[in-house]
Amino acid sequence: MRTYKTVVLGAGGVGKSALTVRFVRDVFVENYDPTIEEEYRRTVTVDGQLSSLEVLDTAGAEQFTSLNEVYIKSGLGFVLVFSLTQEVTLKEVDNLRKQIYRIKGGDTSIPIVIVGTKLDLVNEREVPRSTIQSLSNSWDLPFYETSAKRNWHVGDVFEDLLRQMRARYPSE
Ligand code: GDP
Ligand code: MG
Repeated sequence: MRTYKTVVLGAGGVGKSALTVRFVRDVFVENYDPTIEEEYRRTVTVDGQLSSLEVLDTAGAEQFTSLNEVYIKSGLGFVLVFSLTQEVTLKEVDNLRKQIYRIKGGDTSIPIVIVGTKLDLVNEREVPRSTIQSLSNSWDLPFYETSAKRNWHVGDVFEDLLRQMRARYPSE
């Protein structure tokens, strides 16, 4: 079985750990240690085919960009996370996106999914769907609005990324 290494990146506090742990363990962890970085593994069946996903939940503050570089080199696919309740966190997604393309030598076929989190916090929402829609169009990347707490669309994110990784890195 093929293993696909996936890296979860985004600003601090946007919900990277909650999203990752929801996907790999199917629980919602309210207060995950923001400094813990962990790699998880889970098998998934998508389109009738079993694959293993290795998911790295990063914890680096944005200033450690050299660490990001190590992660980006090692990853086949990327989940770029921002919070729907914090418009400013979109900026980091744009930075990471550019950093990935730069580190991967300008290859724009790198598997990436954009994820807005905390969809359940309706009253705190700052980023309208139209904003993400137009950004994702201009970036030519798929996006999902999710809630790790309610388990909304979390699986969709990793399915989409796995399909992209299978297409981009077919087994030899
Ligand atoms: P990280 O620093 O990006 O790993 O962020 P965390 O996963 O630790 O989440 C930061 C905070 O946001 C925590 O208090 C989480 O409980 C909260 N959080 C994460 N995802 C959700 C969500 O889907 N809904 C709600 N309501 N809170 C969330
Ligand atoms: Mg975390």
